[in-house]
Amino acid sequence: MNPILLATGNPYKIQEIEPVLRQAGFDVFLQKDFFADEAIEDGQTFVENALKKARFACQKTGLPCLAEDSGLEVEALGGRPGVCSARYAGVTGASREEVDAANLRKLLKDMESVPLHARRARYCSVFVYLRSAEDAMPLIGTGILYGEILPEPRTGRGIGYDDVFWVPKYFKTVSEMSDELKNKISHRAQALREVLEKIKKDQV
Ligand code: IMP
Repeated sequence: MNPILLATGNPYKIQEIEPVLRQAGFDVFLQKDFFADEAIEDGQTFVENALKKARFACQKTGLPCLAEDSGLEVEALGGRPGVCSARYAGVTGASREEVDAANLRKLLKDMESVPLHARRARYCSVFVYLRSAEDAMPLIGTGILYGEILPEPRTGRGIGYDDVFWVPKYFKTVSEMSDELKNKISHRAQALREVLEKIKKDQV
């Protein structure tokens, strides 16, 4: 048995991360099978928030836990929405899709006056792995995907900010990418690869 608890309730993240963990030989447990409440994400950095989520899950389950925190940083907005990406528009009590749509609208409104050449942004992801709630040496993986924010959504599809996040290298928004490409190049994929390498080294 090589147990790991994936400390997220976000179905998109589970869909992206769980198969990679299984492929890497882990026996994956999901937090929804253990508890329903969530850690309070009041850290100033993605690292702090991912650590809070991992520690919360360890305390609840006693299992080794892997958590992720991510967000969008826009240069012209001084790094906002950043750690507040998931709740940027302040909408609560709505479906995930409605919250995402409100966040996207707010982002485009905030950037209305930003010229095309100054719309640089990056998606950031941090994974934190804790062997136990008292673990003083967390393993951390980070990833960044660089891009630009388009003035309008491209497809009307895609999660979070994907429909306006343009990746010049691939001449596509993230919403236009295949799952295969996104899972290869995304901030989360990079960060997951890095933390998995560290976990593997730690387990020999
Ligand atoms: P978290 O669950 O607190 O990590 O929130 C991450 C938030 O950042 C999401 O709700 C999205 O708004 C945004 N985000 C992070 N990664 C992505 C992505 O790959 N696509 C779209 N939005 C993302």
